[in-house]
Amino acid sequence: MSASKPIVIVGTGLAGYSLAREFRKLNKDTPLVLITRDDGHSYSKPMLSTGFTKQKDADALSMGDPGKMAEQLQADIRIFTEVSAINTDEKTLDLGGETIEYDKLVLASGAKVNRLEFPGSHLDRVVSINDLMDYRRFRQLVAGKQHILIMGAGLIGCEYANDLREGGYEVTIVDPSETPLNGLIPPFAGEALQQGLVQAGVAINMGKYVVSITETGDHLCAELNDGTTIDCDVVISAIGLKPDLHLAEQAGITCARGIITDRTLQTSAKDVYAIGDAAEVAGLVLLYVLPLMACARALARTLNGEITQVSYGVMPVVTKTPACPVVVAPPVRPSGSWQIVEKNGIHIKALFIDEQEQPLGFVLTGDCTKEKQSLSKTVPNLLV
Ligand code: FAD
Repeated sequence: MSASKPIVIVGTGLAGYSLAREFRKLNKDTPLVLITRDDGHSYSKPMLSTGFTKQKDADALSMGDPGKMAEQLQADIRIFTEVSAINTDEKTLDLGGETIEYDKLVLASGAKVNRLEFPGSHLDRVVSINDLMDYRRFRQLVAGKQHILIMGAGLIGCEYANDLREGGYEVTIVDPSETPLNGLIPPFAGEALQQGLVQAGVAINMGKYVVSITETGDHLCAELNDGTTIDCDVVISAIGLKPDLHLAEQAGITCARGIITDRTLQTSAKDVYAIGDAAEVAGLVLLYVLPLMACARALARTLNGEITQVSYGVMPVVTKTPACPVVVAPPVRPSGSWQIVEKNGIHIKALFIDEQEQPLGFVLTGDCTKEKQSLSKTVPNLLV
């Protein structure tokens, strides 16, 4: 390995910074370069949807500016710098005019937000919040305002709804599905979450979607598919995320739902690895923190010369919706059915049972979420 060529990490989200931290625990000498198109602040993305509850604005959520991170990690951190192309034969990156070399490259480039196209969807006050810079702008937009409309009753939409209610805002959710967290939890659990959010004061319109938004002075008016209208001040679009494959595809690296890697996080290109929301690791796309932390520990060892495969234990998804907390370990295989074991109002315990009567997953809502640890021991690991 050439001493002068660095390990380059594209991305300073939780994946990029966690990997750099894990690597520095093992290796103090190899040059490390981190490149990000954003401002390079270190922050925990899950905290974006609890900012009002915890009374933390964007500045309070920053755990370190790029200067502090560079010192801590003994790394060169390039901010507001877009990687525009990768040449895997030459082992170089194009930074829009400048070319840099790498010894090993890690793509920690995250996921991008899905966007809807309809009249008004590009207005300034129709926003997605997927990083700290988005969040800073959002806090400025909602200061002194009253009513926020959220498109999407997925995990992120429901969390923002609960948090904004805590912040004293009037909140309305609109989503074309039958129940919240559709696709992640079964309908009976979604109904419990919906009931909890409604009790907390969130207005929820399931089975509907926004067809247009018009701006009149300081107000927005959203029209739904059934002709009803909702007046609001700001709209959050929270209709899902998908791995950002743009760079990898352009470089000829094999992608499916994410950038495909094996269990050592190696992509189809020599000396190129992927981690975090961008990666599809051994067939799994998991846009959560626990998997990326496990990957960061394994990849740090591999980059330090000890090839290491990642393993995942049971990693239940926990929603930050205090109005009705939800914990779900989605079934590891789809063959089977949900069985409700306990139900008392919004407090539900249900297991996903296969033909051999084996539990493959579980969902807990309300007070039943305290059984998370014990139930986690009863279902199979995701990746042994
Ligand atoms: P990102 O944080 O998106 O980082 C991507 C980085 O790549 C950025 O620095 C970006 O600038 C850089 N980048 C991309 N392309 C380029 C380029 N071409 N050139 C230069 N730089 C580039 N998960 C949980 O487990 N629990 C939770 O409670 C939870 N809550 C969440 C709440 C919200 C509101 C959101 C949005 C997500 C939540 N998640 C949660 C998911 C979790 O936060 C993500 O899985 C994780 O933060 C992804 O980190 P990442 O580093 O892979 O991606």
